[in-house]
Amino acid sequence: MKPHILLVEDNPDHVALIQRAFEQSAVQITATSSLHEARQLLATQSFDLIICDLYMPDGRSDELLTITDTDVPLPVVLMTGHGDEQTAVAALKAGALDYVVKTPATLLELPRIAERALRERRLFIERQQALQALQRSERLFRAMIERSSDAVLIVDRHGFVRYASPSTRHLLGYQVEGFLSQPVASFPFIHPADRERVKNIFFDLVQRSGASTITEFRALHAGGGWRWIEATASNWLDDPAVEGVIVNYRDVTERKLMELRLQHGILHDALTGLPNRLLLSDRLDQAIKRSQRHPNYHFAVLFLDLDHFKFINDSFGHPVGDRFLVAVATRLYRCLRAIDTCARLGGDEFVVLLDDIASVEQAVSVAERILQQLDRPVEVDGHLLHSSASIGIVFGSPEYSEPAEVLRDADIAMYRAKAAGKSRYVVFQPVMREAAQARLGLENDLRRAVTLREFVVYYQPIVNIHSGTLIGFEALVRWQHPVRGLLTPAAFLDVAEEIGLGDAIGWQVMELVCRQLAEWRQTLLANDLSIHVNLSARQFMLPDLYSRLVQLLEQYHLPPRSIKLELTESTLMEYNQEAAAVLASLRNYGIQIVIDDFGVGYSSLSYLIKLPIDQIKIDRNFIIQLNQDRHSEAIVSAIINLARGLHLAVVAEGLETAEQLERMRVAGCDYGQGYLLGYPLSAEEASRLLQQVLQ
Ligand code: C2E
Ligand code: CA
Ligand code: CA
Repeated sequence: MKPHILLVEDNPDHVALIQRAFEQSAVQITATSSLHEARQLLATQSFDLIICDLYMPDGRSDELLTITDTDVPLPVVLMTGHGDEQTAVAALKAGALDYVVKTPATLLELPRIAERALRERRLFIERQQALQALQRSERLFRAMIERSSDAVLIVDRHGFVRYASPSTRHLLGYQVEGFLSQPVASFPFIHPADRERVKNIFFDLVQRSGASTITEFRALHAGGGWRWIEATASNWLDDPAVEGVIVNYRDVTERKLMELRLQHGILHDALTGLPNRLLLSDRLDQAIKRSQRHPNYHFAVLFLDLDHFKFINDSFGHPVGDRFLVAVATRLYRCLRAIDTCARLGGDEFVVLLDDIASVEQAVSVAERILQQLDRPVEVDGHLLHSSASIGIVFGSPEYSEPAEVLRDADIAMYRAKAAGKSRYVVFQPVMREAAQARLGLENDLRRAVTLREFVVYYQPIVNIHSGTLIGFEALVRWQHPVRGLLTPAAFLDVAEEIGLGDAIGWQVMELVCRQLAEWRQTLLANDLSIHVNLSARQFMLPDLYSRLVQLLEQYHLPPRSIKLELTESTLMEYNQEAAAVLASLRNYGIQIVIDDFGVGYSSLSYLIKLPIDQIKIDRNFIIQLNQDRHSEAIVSAIINLARGLHLAVVAEGLETAEQLERMRVAGCDYGQGYLLGYPLSAEEASRLLQQVLQ
């Protein structure tokens, strides 16, 4: 049987246009120009889809949303004029399947939308059937237990009502007397479309002594309007005390409406009313299959991630964040054609499926339009919120076989857009997949490495540049990779920090250092030796830093002065308030604090010295500049002089040439580190060096 569409539209030109658009489709269309007639048609015939104009001469057609025909709610596609987007979003949330803004072009798209809606209805029915089978048996059981709680009729074997409980009035608004001595199956209040069925069920039950059955039908309330009734009938004809069929019934209209919302809810996002991942995947699947069949058909996917959503959520609260998302969704919707799909995947991720497009340029121009739309600030609750997005674009190719593959590539391109500075789009290219796979491989390797403790520590000498004596080491982490060999931090540390493994690695280093120090103190009596350990910004701000450190030092019987913590200028600047407190407690305990990479951030020294610190390490880049301009030399001596006045020790980093060393010595620097004075050494090499020095 052909799917049956009810078209509710009062404009005859639009009706003609729509009917022409559907000429090629295998559907039957019944058109009506009033809501009143639409209701009558729905009561007497069965339909698979309603397409209706939102504003009709005799009312707003969203009331059709609550009309249901069979067990499964009828999908409704609304048509609106321009400027009604807000109303349309509300309708989507109330259960409409889709809406189109009326233009001659969008009306021509209706067959595609209808085809999609009918497909989705089948999809839903399949999902529902399993669920319903389960619900029916449960309902039967429940109805039997709760026998007395609803309205009750007792009916004789010919179908005449002998008794009607008072709640009849309550449920349907009729006087009890009106029910008595009427044949139940021909009651005028049962919907004409359901009457025959109800009658058959009843006379079938009459034949089976002791049996029960449950059914649903529509009934007209005395005050007007159809209600859904669920009735349980049990055959007690052979019981001399009853000699009748007991019918318990109740109003289940609310549940029917819930089912309608459920249908919408399974496939749509509750917040924005947009399609969700499930529906998107289904449509994407269709697009992929189509592109495999028709070489001239192309689609594209835009993967969109908002750039500042976390910030908005954190600073203005979730309700504002939610409204912001709805506003963004509305703007996105405006950039698209009726046949495109805009879905929300959750959080601040949206995906747009551009159906049937000619070229990648077309997708790019949609992305540009979206970026433009988002460029204007969004007003939510009096806040002007800046919105922008990073967009990854995939132009569909027949090589794709699964929606997930397309989404993965679009996601990869989106990350590229983010990395390139946000608020932009990037078109996916296959090479990106390899890079992303390499990165994914690295992430997995790193997780394993943390578990298997594949990290080792190298020790770079720190030397007193006047006397040439070794005073300590800087601990530098290395990754003993099972395949790639020994890796320096540049190859993995940033990624490790990004995926949250920085702390774990940091603590493994700290533990290795403590164990090594304890060993050197015991075997080589290196009691004055201290080791500098680098701390990441995150590690520094973890609340248990102090207690963990103290615990480690005690465990290995180390004095606090044997560990010096290196923190970068930027770490300290970022956390200025909290930082001072953390530093003070560490220092009170006796652990020295070193500012690493000093001079890179050009933060004011006077600011830094307000913090409780002990040492400054002048960055290698500063040392390199020394050879190039006189100005740097003046700055370096000024820094050193100031630091000395404040009793801060100064270490020059990255000394590679004798000339650099000499300049630093002249400038008044006391300590140095660099390839000239010693490369980072493995633990064994460092042990050997210590042995020589200490003898
Ligand atoms: P950093 O703290 O500035 O460490 C000094 C870096 O300069 C080390 O690189 C060292 O090998 C290198 N270096 C030393 N002398 C010279 C020299 O004369 N010339 C040149 N060109 N380089 C020199 P490495 O070991 O690759 O470490 C890089 C960065 O990784 C470190 O910079 C530090 O920020 C970070 N890092 C290393 N180990 C750890 C750790 O255990 N935890 C944390 N959070 N970061 C670490
Ligand atoms: Ca360092
Ligand atoms: Ca450094």
